[in-house]
Amino acid sequence: MNACFCCQPKNLGRRALMASAVAVVAMPAMGQTVPASGGPVDAAVIEDLVAGNRILYDQNVVDGFGHISVRHPKDPNRYLLSKSMAPALVTADDIIEYDLDSNPVNANGRTSYLERFIHGEIYKIRPDVMSVVHSHSAGVIPFADTAVPLRPMNHISSFLGDGVPVFEIRTAGGPATDMLIRNAALGKALAARLGTHSVMLMRGHGSVVAARSIKDAVFRAIYTEVNARMQAEAMRLGKPEFLNAEEAAAATKSNEALVGRPWELWKRRAMGK
Ligand code: MN
Repeated sequence: MNACFCCQPKNLGRRALMASAVAVVAMPAMGQTVPASGGPVDAAVIEDLVAGNRILYDQNVVDGFGHISVRHPKDPNRYLLSKSMAPALVTADDIIEYDLDSNPVNANGRTSYLERFIHGEIYKIRPDVMSVVHSHSAGVIPFADTAVPLRPMNHISSFLGDGVPVFEIRTAGGPATDMLIRNAALGKALAARLGTHSVMLMRGHGSVVAARSIKDAVFRAIYTEVNARMQAEAMRLGKPEFLNAEEAAAATKSNEALVGRPWELWKRRAMGK
């Protein structure tokens, strides 16, 4: 997979060469096509993805369910996501590569998450997004299931200031789905509803966070949950005052430089267990 492609005949594209190499190695079953790999991934990226899984569990964003992915650092048409398992137990050996149609490249018998289409379909329409978190964190669901919008309560949650849409699965899937984003059509509808936002709630289900890095996605997933709990508490006391659009934009700019600080703390806690 590390062949020098510039030395190959010009009439053979890189993708065709990779595909033929993978077909020989992976020997897909009759009628199945295994997509080409985007190539080797730096160990540091895998380490961050594993840490992201552990942190999201340690910070009460995911439990036995939920997942985090990262776009392939060298191939924007591939992404990396754990096999179907509890996030707190994920190791580097559990990471599977997918194409953006969410076909596994190197499953080798490992089972995929049913809802992997959330990730692939968001990466397709959001070239700025490098990492996606899907969770069922409990604090946000009241805002997904009522008409009360989730809005930024404090400067750390300022990224909510550009609006938080709610995905209604009945619009795309009708009144009798099992609520899961289990195919590309539902994933595409979900990604379209997310649009340019960084956070979206899913009625009767959970939420999705899209960000420019694993660290940002984890940060936003954690503070989306924290903000939801704060907002519900504030609404019990009275009518909350939220950050206005200008405050939210300015705070988000400041926070972008600070994401590494809590990450180190969260990582140490989560990986020490
Ligand atoms: Mn789910």
